[in-house]
Amino acid sequence: GREEISSPKRTKEIIAAHGFSFKKSLGQNFLIDQNILNKIVEAADLNEGTGALEIGPGIGALTERLAMSAGAVTAVEIDQRLIPILQDVLSSYSHVNIRHADVLKVDLHELFREDFSEVSKVSVVANLPYYVTTPILMKLLEERLPLSNIVVMIQKEVAERMAARPGGKDYGSLSIAVQYYSEPELICTVPHTVFIPQPNVESAVIRLKIRERPPVEVKDEKHFFDVVRASFTQRRKTISNNLKARFFPGEGREALEALLAEAGIEPSRRGETLSLAEYARLSDVLFDAGR
Ligand code: SAM
Repeated sequence: GREEISSPKRTKEIIAAHGFSFKKSLGQNFLIDQNILNKIVEAADLNEGTGALEIGPGIGALTERLAMSAGAVTAVEIDQRLIPILQDVLSSYSHVNIRHADVLKVDLHELFREDFSEVSKVSVVANLPYYVTTPILMKLLEERLPLSNIVVMIQKEVAERMAARPGGKDYGSLSIAVQYYSEPELICTVPHTVFIPQPNVESAVIRLKIRERPPVEVKDEKHFFDVVRASFTQRRKTISNNLKARFFPGEGREALEALLAEAGIEPSRRGETLSLAEYARLSDVLFDAGR
């Protein structure tokens, strides 16, 4: 048989045959390593009865693997020049659907209705364009799509921030947002050498297991995330100083410190030491006080 799309030889052939040139501005770093592909696809736990949504298929290295494992595959690619290439190299897979679109502008609920009505579970599996990793993942999480997990290759530092526990320098509003919707797990780190062209940053594969319900209950989600963001406005400042600037500007400290006490939080702590449960309590207390 023919070599896989991800083999360095075939990748170079496809690129040459179509006269394709990489666009750095679209985060185009294509995977050329079978081991890494194995790890990504294994982590997604696919079978004939499940669907896979890929964001940014490139020339189809990962798409081909997804086609071999999942019952329905949809790949959303922003670069028009890649569409005919994908249609050509994946022509033997009738259950693969190539869509030309910017994933940030797609109505994903509609896409799920159209493409995944026959499958029981859907995973997002992707080697993401690094310049839009966070907006893409937050869209997938916040829209509460019927997903079982998200397995993505992203910049290593971002993966570490997503999986970080309270108390360290990596822990911040991104950790809290991701952990509110999912259980993150680092699968592996990935060297530059598995891509062409090679990116300047280190990469990692992370799995986000989607939660059925959040680990904490809050009175108002928007307010909860507002409190979290405010608490990290200036990392070196105390929770009291950050919250005062956002919720009690120009006022004394007494009212705020009384509310912090009610939530059981020392005013001298820093935002990076608070757990999700503590942020939930804090947000509810401020919300009830009309702040
Ligand atoms: N999946 C391929 C692989 O692993 O070899 C390519 C991965 S490459 C890191 C990222 C891909 O995402 C590129 O093909 C790029 O054109 C595409 N892309 C960038 N921004 C996008 C967006 N907003 N929506 C959909 N695709 C996008």
